[in-house]
Amino acid sequence: MTDKFKKRLLGLTWDALERWADPRSVARGKGYQTRVEDVVEMPDGGIVARVHGRDDYLTKIALKPNGTLEAECTCPVGYRCKHAVALVLVAARQLKDGKDIEPCNPNDAYFDEIIDAFKTDESVPAVVHDIVSEYLSQLKGNEIQNLMQELVVNVSGVRPYIRHKVEVMRASTADFVRMAKQAIKSATAGYYDRWDKRGGHDKVPDYGTVEEYFGKLKEAGDWESLRALGFELLEKGQRQIEWSHDEGEIYHQVIDCMKIVVAAMEASPLSALEKAMWMLEFEKHDHFSFVYETGVNFMDKDRLTSEEWGKIADVLMAGFKDRLREAKEEDRYDLDSDRHKIANALENAGRGDEVIDLLIFSLKKTHCYESLVNLLLRLDRRDEAITWCRKGIVACMKDAPGISGSLRDKMRSFAEEKGDDLLVAAYDTLKFLSYPELSKYEQMRKSCMRVKKWEKVRDLALKYIETGRRPDGKPGWPLPDTGDPVDRGWEKNFPDEHLIIEIALYEKRYADAVRWFKTCLNDNLPSWNAYRFPDQGWDVAKAVADVLPEDAIAIWKVAIERNCRTAAYYAYQAIVSALCEMRPVMERLGLRSEWDGIVSNLREEYKRRKNFVQLLDGLTGDKSKKKTSPRLIAE
Ligand SMILES: [Zn+2]
Repeated sequence: MTDKFKKRLLGLTWDALERWADPRSVARGKGYQTRVEDVVEMPDGGIVARVHGRDDYLTKIALKPNGTLEAECTCPVGYRCKHAVALVLVAARQLKDGKDIEPCNPNDAYFDEIIDAFKTDESVPAVVHDIVSEYLSQLKGNEIQNLMQELVVNVSGVRPYIRHKVEVMRASTADFVRMAKQAIKSATAGYYDRWDKRGGHDKVPDYGTVEEYFGKLKEAGDWESLRALGFELLEKGQRQIEWSHDEGEIYHQVIDCMKIVVAAMEASPLSALEKAMWMLEFEKHDHFSFVYETGVNFMDKDRLTSEEWGKIADVLMAGFKDRLREAKEEDRYDLDSDRHKIANALENAGRGDEVIDLLIFSLKKTHCYESLVNLLLRLDRRDEAITWCRKGIVACMKDAPGISGSLRDKMRSFAEEKGDDLLVAAYDTLKFLSYPELSKYEQMRKSCMRVKKWEKVRDLALKYIETGRRPDGKPGWPLPDTGDPVDRGWEKNFPDEHLIIEIALYEKRYADAVRWFKTCLNDNLPSWNAYRFPDQGWDVAKAVADVLPEDAIAIWKVAIERNCRTAAYYAYQAIVSALCEMRPVMERLGLRSEWDGIVSNLREEYKRRKNFVQLLDGLTGDKSKKKTSPRLIAE
């Protein structure tokens, strides 16, 4: 057992243990200590024990390389359960008593039982020297044959296993093709449902033999067969994945098979262009990006000459316009990806100027305004970029407001580059009006101050978040018109109290913040939430504590009163937080005895809520004596 693991167990505190498992498991784990038996250390460093209960379970704790304590258990909880807690306690006790934890004897049946219960790659030791392997190593020719016959007759699965071995040994390339087809067929038959055992297979489909035969074909250099088999596997595997509910087990098996196909293509005598064309064709049907996951890319820029890239661009372009015309909204993702591929090929072919046409005729269906504008800027065609920006803002406003917004940002940066500070301020202000939040308020303030319009704009903006009446474009509006249509932005209810309070705190108008917060308290919380204390109260009370201590105290008192209506741990914690925050403020005002009174009243009134009283107990007592949680094992 490593020193690190030992130290970790001996150094654990009750608090840490409760954070690790939950308090309930810790409480129950304490009572389970006498049920822990056969504590042993496994070759991977984990500590395992049997814990008796209504049923028996095996529990394992281990220290991971990153220093965290982990637990596994065969009980239904399976993870940091009461059994694991009991084992932690027993192991710590034993170590404290100076008794090391015994390694598990590989000859014991217990060893096999443990290995079987926690089957992970790491937990199985590379070589186990036990009586079985020792016996096997001493067998002589005849004895081996007899033993094998015995196995074939008595143990199911041995005969097919050996038959398979013989078949593989004797097979020709043509046989492997046939066998691979058969293997694909049986692996992809039906579907797998991890959770619903009625509908599908209850075992994960096994692609192992597919992978094996693919490997044999690759060794034989039969890339042509593999190319065809790759498409076959793609079609059938994909369909199975779509129908199955798993956690990626099938997907990763298919990728492993595809890696062999791609490696065989790589080793084939095909030209770079032919390989790229194969990959293009494959990708067209590959909805799960298997090829991408293999890590080999025949479409790498440097693999092909610019002339070859031109050919690829032409192949891709053929048919794209027609598909674009017929495309529906849901095809957008595919179109985008095709468009990227074509643009990429064109650029690699040195035909970058054709990309502009491509983007312009894709605009309507793919909203690719940003790509177009960026490209025009790269080519120094600024006026056109601005024109398309404006068109895009209008065109995307309804269907793709996010794109419209980034185009507006772009227009703002054009204004900034030109040094047009007034226009920048106009953009920032419009952004706040459409999407009012504190960060945008700060940005608007900064740019309006620069052009000396802040006073007026601030006034109008604050009125806006109270009334919801937009001031832009009305008489008296102090900023220039951006020329874009008005973006209505977020649907909001006005007055936007939350933001009004945030801004008041930001501007240190504490009395305003308190006044608005009180209006929130009065009413309009939905009834399901009426007993709750609005979260913003914490910020307000904390911020005004120095300047308006009476108001802060009043707010904390509301927090306490409202949370008292709920008998839940989080509510108790909220009350204790409020009391903690209140104490120094009340002490400064000479109100310490009133504070003590509040605490003792709470303790009296809720004395039957044990957890609550415990938390309250933690509050009183001298603050300078910081309480620390006791160790599991007292020093
Ligand atoms: Zn357990």
